[in-house]
Amino acid sequence: MSPASPTPPAGADAIAPLERARELAALVLAPAANTTDQADSVPREHLRALAGAGLLGIATPARYGGLGAPARVAREVLEILAGACGVTAFVQMQHATAACPLIARGDNEALKERALPRLASGERLCTVGFSHVRRPGPPMVRIEPDGDHVRLDGTVPWLTGHGLADDAVIAGTLPDGRLMYVLTPLSAGDSIEASAPLRLSAMNASATVSLTLRALRVGPEQVIATVTREQQAARDVAGLLTPAALSLGAAGAAAALLASLAERRGDAQLAGAARALEDEREAARAEVNAWADQPEAEGYAEHAVRARASCVDLGVRAAHAAVAATGGSANRLDHAAQRLFREAMLYSLTAQTRDLQAAMVQRLLGRGAGAMDRARP
Ligand SMILES: Cc1cc2nc3c(=O)[nH]c(=O)nc-3n(C[C@H](O)[C@H](O)[C@H](O)COP(=O)(O)OP(=O)(O)OC[C@H]3O[C@@H](n4cnc5c(N)ncnc54)[C@H](O)[C@@H]3O)c2cc1C
Repeated sequence: MSPASPTPPAGADAIAPLERARELAALVLAPAANTTDQADSVPREHLRALAGAGLLGIATPARYGGLGAPARVAREVLEILAGACGVTAFVQMQHATAACPLIARGDNEALKERALPRLASGERLCTVGFSHVRRPGPPMVRIEPDGDHVRLDGTVPWLTGHGLADDAVIAGTLPDGRLMYVLTPLSAGDSIEASAPLRLSAMNASATVSLTLRALRVGPEQVIATVTREQQAARDVAGLLTPAALSLGAAGAAAALLASLAERRGDAQLAGAARALEDEREAARAEVNAWADQPEAEGYAEHAVRARASCVDLGVRAAHAAVAATGGSANRLDHAAQRLFREAMLYSLTAQTRDLQAAMVQRLLGRGAGAMDRARP
């Protein structure tokens, strides 16, 4: 990514990033959202604007040049961005609330000092490729010791932001079954080959590719951390709630769309629907914040899965309500309602674990059964 405007001073209070996110969302992202959705890639101006507002370093500790905002503020920023432009929020999430925190929580102090300030300022953009470590079966990316280096071979099935990102955090499996995370530039010659951008129903502009790694050599200075499978499972559960903000953003934008339709038509019922969805969004956010703040609490995993599933459900329902209330024009590719509906659908897959997958399916089944019970005389 090209050099960004200067990052605001670290340690700014929590309100400032939210205000900056709201301003950027209203002035830059929302007006272009339907066009961006149909583009090949997120415009670089969006990333420069995020960098200028400090939002690419939102979750990076202040001592490494970021804003060091609490996790709930980073989630609220993500929610605001997702309400304005889903695909820009998606790319911001991979950099700011996935890649940078992974490096910051890692074991390599020299790497943190070297890499994080440039990532926090937006001088370099980073993406991630690690969801494959959750898949059962033979490892998709194998990491073998190679002298004092390691060697990566295999396939990273999903990597967002190709062509925009300079670096990627990639995970693979060591011979003893532990998982290693490394930071690598994406311009690593023949060792990293990207597929053509995957054709996607939602987030097509995320420039998501799969990568083939062939004998990618990585030195100890690029190793972020090595974790056991148990530690990875704990990280997966802890990571479930961040993308809930994407669903809440879609729900908020859909409720706003309903409210504006209600005003235009003088339709009190539609206005009531918009208010009800807004109330549900507030409650869902409060639930997410309550659990995200206490990952050590008993029953955390179960509640986190439930809280995330209800946010996904709310996002899809709210967007569907916006589609239905709009009418035929909602299906036009330049209409926000169908875009929000596709984005809300995609958020059911993001950072998906097996438990979330099961909870989502059960929740959808339960909704049908509940509705039938209520309809019975
Ligand atoms: C547009 C888009 C962009 C993405 N960008 C990125 C990115 O930048 N970086 C990144 O790391 N990921 C990215 N992802 C991946 C995304 O987070 C994954 O879709 C999600 O983690 C689900 O994993 P999967 O697609 O590998 O699905 P699957 O392999 O289908 O797995 C889904 C879940 O089910 C479980 N599961 C699958 N098969 C079995 C089985 N036989 N038995 C038991 N459990 C099973 C898996 O463990 C997993 O938890 C992206 C996905 C999309 C759609």
